[in-house]
Amino acid sequence: MPSLEELGKILNWSACRECGDCLARCRYLGLSREEAISEIKKINAGLPARAAERCVSCYACDAFCPNGAHPYERIHYRWNARYLEKGLPARASYLMPTRRPNFRQDIAYSAEEKRLHEAWGADSPPARTVLYPGCNLLTMPLLMHPVITDRLPVWGRWELCCGEMYFRMGLLDEVEKTAKRLTEYYAARPVDEMVFLCPAGYNMFTNVLPTQFGARFSFKTVPFAQWFLRELDRGAYRITDRLTGSVVIHDSCHARVLGDSFLGAQRAMLERLGLTVIETTDDRADGLCCGMAAGCTSYSGLDIMRCASRELKTLDGAGADEAAIYCTGCLIQLGIARLASPFGRPLRHVLELVYRAMGISVNARLASKSFRIFRGIAAHALPRYLDPRRFRL
Ligand code: SF4
Ligand code: SF4
Repeated sequence: MPSLEELGKILNWSACRECGDCLARCRYLGLSREEAISEIKKINAGLPARAAERCVSCYACDAFCPNGAHPYERIHYRWNARYLEKGLPARASYLMPTRRPNFRQDIAYSAEEKRLHEAWGADSPPARTVLYPGCNLLTMPLLMHPVITDRLPVWGRWELCCGEMYFRMGLLDEVEKTAKRLTEYYAARPVDEMVFLCPAGYNMFTNVLPTQFGARFSFKTVPFAQWFLRELDRGAYRITDRLTGSVVIHDSCHARVLGDSFLGAQRAMLERLGLTVIETTDDRADGLCCGMAAGCTSYSGLDIMRCASRELKTLDGAGADEAAIYCTGCLIQLGIARLASPFGRPLRHVLELVYRAMGISVNARLASKSFRIFRGIAAHALPRYLDPRRFRL
């Protein structure tokens, strides 16, 4: 792993003016300007800071900083130090993507889902342009339909995890191992373009792994919305059943730091389908987290559900017909919160809307998937809340 000094250079840590803009704008900490300045000063000085303890890992402060000084990494690099010193609580084990059992891999999958996992996991790429599934799409493989995969085959498997959860948890040695493993794996397999439905995977492969952890990939990384708009323009797809009505859009944490071209492409795609896009009261960089990241701070189910419920309430209050979600992880997390509050706006993956606009009906089975994940967490993580043991990866 790069030394702290090297990381400081990579992440432009000397650019911090201790202005407090980042933490004062945070939607979760509720700090005044003076408090924000005081907290960032403590974080910079390596002193105990309330902000670092209460942060829900939403990533937005990196987008808020006008100086590109990476306040988010300043916080979670502190979590790395906490991990190295104390390890992780026993209840966190089920959230680790590379430990078994875990909350994605060890739920019941249907025969069709297993067949897709098998087909997508080939050792060689099936085309020069492929779709990287990431853990989230592997969890909901039935979201994919041949109308997309015939042109854009899915290629990937659980072991090719992008390390995003470890990054968000501040487990930096694990991210570095991931960067090395993925660099070696893809170096021997020819791909021109890797398309990402998952904004987290896109940001990890495009920015985080190469910039901070030394990964090297020869392929071009492309967000799915950009790929789909390109294919529409080429005439490869036709909107046969133009949609009507409105959707409120939920942005993912990674999208906030990816900026306007990424965020704009999501909206442009929905508008091309015929939909009116409604924004939440605080949108884009100021939007709320689905709750998944809140689990990266304290590994507390309560924090996750509190964050998820807050965002569901915001989406429901926007007055749209449905909520459009492009991150499959956000969809699953909000789907879990929806189990407890079932009467709000329907949650739709953008792929479902794409299919609908092409006259294709796909049932993503969100409720049953969310329930299975919730049941897994209840069985494996909740009973370990009082377990005082700690572990290291
Ligand atoms: S990280 Fe950026 S926004 Fe935060 S205090 Fe430093 S310069 Fe200001
Ligand atoms: S990551 Fe999110 S919750 Fe944490 S300090 Fe930054 S803006 Fe606030």
